[in-house]
Amino acid sequence: MHFELSEEQSAIFDMAYAFGQDNIAPHARDWEKQGTIPKDLWPQIAQLGLGGIYVSEDMGGSGLLRLDATLVFEALAMACPSVGSFLGMIDKFGSDDLRAKWLPKMCSMETVFSYCLTEPGSGSDAAALRTRAERTNEGYAVTGTKAFISGGGYSDAYIVMCRTGEDGPKGISSLIVEHGADGLSFGGLEDKMGWRSQPTAQVQFDACHVPSDNLIGEEGRGFSYAMAGLDGGRLNIAASALGGAQQALNMTLTYMGERKAFGKSIDQFQALQFRLADMEVKLQSARTFLRQAAWKLDNRTPDATKFCAMAKLYVTDAAFSVANDCLQLHGGYGYLADYGIEKIVRDLRVHQILEGTNEIMRLIISRQMLADR
Ligand SMILES: Cc1cc2nc3c(=O)[nH]c(=O)nc-3n(C[C@H](O)[C@H](O)[C@H](O)COP(=O)(O)OP(=O)(O)OC[C@H]3O[C@@H](n4cnc5c(N)ncnc54)[C@H](O)[C@@H]3O)c2cc1C
Repeated sequence: MHFELSEEQSAIFDMAYAFGQDNIAPHARDWEKQGTIPKDLWPQIAQLGLGGIYVSEDMGGSGLLRLDATLVFEALAMACPSVGSFLGMIDKFGSDDLRAKWLPKMCSMETVFSYCLTEPGSGSDAAALRTRAERTNEGYAVTGTKAFISGGGYSDAYIVMCRTGEDGPKGISSLIVEHGADGLSFGGLEDKMGWRSQPTAQVQFDACHVPSDNLIGEEGRGFSYAMAGLDGGRLNIAASALGGAQQALNMTLTYMGERKAFGKSIDQFQALQFRLADMEVKLQSARTFLRQAAWKLDNRTPDATKFCAMAKLYVTDAAFSVANDCLQLHGGYGYLADYGIEKIVRDLRVHQILEGTNEIMRLIISRQMLADR
């Protein structure tokens, strides 16, 4: 059993970290104010091979492991959890479920994709979705509304889970709807607590015309593709939370050496030193657990889904708690935007909610435990 990263993996982390510090961190607050990420960032990320991390090389991807992807998302989120997570959201579907036609464009990030599962009436209970795709002579006419879509109105294409058949998961298919399609429109930008640099909006379909070529895989298999994408998506979201929290902890270590109270720097108070130790344990254990889950997904072990859910739950809770404690250790300055901590706290809160809420993670874990007994 090896716990250390290979030389190649360390290089992947260092490359993503350096890119984030040079090209994302200096702009993160401006992008947050503007409510958008410049689109020319994505081809730059793609040039580093981070557009299709685990897509095979013959399809234009990097052919790396899920474990490698956790390193990339952790490193990028150290620059900005909102930007790093956006890549995580669009990259999660980068599997062979997408046919050759789409993968090269996805990997070069000429085409930015959004992923549309949630609806106003169905979030956790995703299989209850009601967006319907009726067959037409040329393809499909899609009608319905998707809610909370990261990149809604910004992306070039939308991977849409919609109903082509019966109620329940087996009646769901997955279609690609390109920006500009007839009958495609968007709601206003959501005004959010965090992740403010990435646009979130409703995506609306009104008899939206989709050619039959844009069906991903087979009809009726869309939900299984979506669920398969979620295991990796959960790792990406967890890794981004970890990177944000690690950055908050690094900043706190520096700050505590500079800030004085009662005649000494605050890192001299044992009560606060113990808080540092607790935070370090939380993040290191979260990292180990995350990498174990990624290893299981890479090796397709039967318990991979359960481990991805456990890692998502544990890492995102630990990361939010550490970021929040870091804010506390900054005193009043932690509450000011200039110190960078409050943004991390705001950004990390949603990691406990999306890619399946942490309650749903408990559901997945406990169901599997009961099934295995
Ligand atoms: C910023 C942001 C970006 C997002 N981006 C996307 C995106 O790009 N694409 C996309 O498809 N979706 C996206 N989402 C949606 C996200 O995945 C959903 O918000 C999430 O799955 C929860 O669904 P819901 O909001 O409808 O909550 P609900 O399902 O209504 O849940 C409400 C509460 O009830 C709890 N709950 C529900 N069912 C159970 C149960 N059986 N047992 C115990 N507790 C339960 C939940 O945990 C939660 O606490 C995004 C959300 C946000 C906030």
